[in-house]
Amino acid sequence: MEYYQIAIDGPSGSGKSTLAKGVAQKLGILYLDTGAMYRTCGLKALRLGISTKDKEAVAEMMKDINVDISHVDGEQHVFLDGEDVSKEIRTAEASVAASDVSAIPCVRAAMVDLQRKISEGKNVVLDGRDIGSKVFPNAKYKFFLVAAAEERARRRLLELQQKGICDQTFEEVLRDIEYRDHQDTTRAESPLVKVDDAIEIDTTSIGIEETQDLLLSYIKE
Ligand code: C5P
Repeated sequence: MEYYQIAIDGPSGSGKSTLAKGVAQKLGILYLDTGAMYRTCGLKALRLGISTKDKEAVAEMMKDINVDISHVDGEQHVFLDGEDVSKEIRTAEASVAASDVSAIPCVRAAMVDLQRKISEGKNVVLDGRDIGSKVFPNAKYKFFLVAAAEERARRRLLELQQKGICDQTFEEVLRDIEYRDHQDTTRAESPLVKVDDAIEIDTTSIGIEETQDLLLSYIKE
């Protein structure tokens, strides 16, 4: 049996995770949030007090890290060295740390291996930055979501507030998004790019349900 992957890439707050989760539920396939893995590596560096930009120290850290994913009632949980850190990785600090460590090649190599391993023998929808370009260049369906930075910051703030973990102002959220956009698109290793065969969807002024219907209409074709 042939398994397929759906790649959903795009910048922070473009709606990838909500969409990927919805699509996975609708199609009854696995959803893999790859950003959570980079966040987990970033969190470990923060806990160890390592500079998240120090390549050597982070490489050393990666020799002794265990990142694991499990799904409970369709919700992804991520484990750092056996501890469920699903909530802790959502802080503003962990977001910036994730973006920093994700630019380091050995971190990417380890996480890409893990993503491919988890996806083996399954139909899966993955969201991230390099799914269509690097992790699964032969994915059957590729989407690239974009949205204006202000709208993405507004959504991110709302999401954090709903989770009860937001202590940032709109301006601070926007600044973090712009920092990550810059870093994610300019890094040497697997930068965020739209590959030629990805379908671009601008979600600035369309709701999540409409985006989901649009995406599913491509898949049904
Ligand atoms: O998607 P999310 O915002 O949770 O991702 C956190 C960070 O992890 C991003 O800013 C990006 O730097 C990094 N990331 C990545 N490649 C992926 C997913 C996330 O570099 N496939």
